[in-house]
Amino acid sequence: MRRWTRLVFVSVLTATACARPTPERRTIDAAAAALGGRTRILVVKTLVIEGEGTNGNLGQEMTPQASTQTFTVTGYRFARDAAGGRWRIDQTRTPNFTYFQGQAGQKQVLGLDRDVAYNVAPNGTATRLSTAQAKDRRAMAYHHPLTIVRAALDPAAKLANARNFGDQRTVDITTADGSLFTLAINAATGLPTSVISMADNTNLGDIAQETSFADYQDVAGLKLPARITSKVDTYQTSDIRVTKQTIDGNAGDLAAPSAAASAPAIAAAPPATVTVEPIARGIWLLAGQTHHSVAVEFSDHLLLIEAPQNDTRALAVIAKARELVPGKPLTMVVNTHHHFDHSGGIRAAVAEGLTVITQKGNAAFFQQAAGRAHTIVPDALAGNPKPLKLETVDEEMTLQDKTMAVNLYHIAGSPHADTLLMAYFPKERVLVEADVYSPAATVHPYTANLLDNIRKRHLRVDRIVPIHGTPVAFDALLKTQGS
Ligand SMILES: [Zn+2]
Repeated sequence: MRRWTRLVFVSVLTATACARPTPERRTIDAAAAALGGRTRILVVKTLVIEGEGTNGNLGQEMTPQASTQTFTVTGYRFARDAAGGRWRIDQTRTPNFTYFQGQAGQKQVLGLDRDVAYNVAPNGTATRLSTAQAKDRRAMAYHHPLTIVRAALDPAAKLANARNFGDQRTVDITTADGSLFTLAINAATGLPTSVISMADNTNLGDIAQETSFADYQDVAGLKLPARITSKVDTYQTSDIRVTKQTIDGNAGDLAAPSAAASAPAIAAAPPATVTVEPIARGIWLLAGQTHHSVAVEFSDHLLLIEAPQNDTRALAVIAKARELVPGKPLTMVVNTHHHFDHSGGIRAAVAEGLTVITQKGNAAFFQQAAGRAHTIVPDALAGNPKPLKLETVDEEMTLQDKTMAVNLYHIAGSPHADTLLMAYFPKERVLVEADVYSPAATVHPYTANLLDNIRKRHLRVDRIVPIHGTPVAFDALLKTQGS
């Protein structure tokens, strides 16, 4: 009898526990109810959002901390399937700052078709993106209230870690395909306020990608946000004001263009190709791909100008410099400016023990960059942690011994960046610079300022060795200025 009673007691407890939704489930149920109800959400097939707004200029601002440069976004159209597998953004973006490709609006198409991420150029050429970019774009599919709540309602989704922060309730959602998101809802209304997922950024390491939702409006029996803003880490990357929303209308063709769909998946960054071109005695241009470096030989050590892009490129360039002069240690790297494509190899240089020389406006950013977590995609420095050795240049610095002299100058007042250094070899009359004069470019919006800086300092330049493009006589630069 006693035993029987206990069994009944236990089974009643279990039944009670099952009937009562978890805090995580209650958060998702509240969100689903606020958006229009589970049944309504689950029958939606497509959503098209149209509007306008701004995009940021992540990693390419005037200073590492700035977030003032924007592109005006017009003709914005984001079509997606509600299940999250396919989406496509069409937009035109027009720079509100002095842009290296000129001031005209650029049409952009960005898309995802399951495992295939692609872009379509204005001339119609579709290009498949890397596996890593496809992973980021799959995550972006769920950065919307409709798609994330729908994914959370999937019985295969896992919910965890319900929390309360002020007027917000959050829950972690692992979708059926294994991706992790944190959804926040307004505790009073149940409406989603943000979705966060983690991703890797070469320069910043582990970053939170956060999309926030506001200005909810009624659309075909649903409540959907008309203001959608996105951040990467602390940088705002997008702010869209929605003017039209269409449920189950004409979403267009969401299949990847055949050129992208049939292209092989690109699993890893292509291997680095480093060519060597002697510029003068003790000076070599290390080229071969889009971003170049310059190796410089002093009497008892070597200096590198630029550790660009990523570990792959920077480590290959560092190895090539060491191979050129095996008897002398490579001890320093000069960074031309903080832009992410020019500083993406700085962590690799730190891992290789090099002292970093940069304009003083970059000091705090590089100190932070050297210490950031890179756990999602561990890089060379994560695998071999070393303290940053940093030297900064305010307006100028001379590196000189009995065999070599290099003057580093701040390029003052450049509309490209506030943190630019150029390297001048007075004996050889060679100038090394990044981005402010690229010989093959069709427009040269920063070159007049470069010329001002050269003249202000009375530099006698015979040859420009650019970080982008091939070395040219100084006359080629003068010709771009009509002189
Ligand atoms: Zn730049």
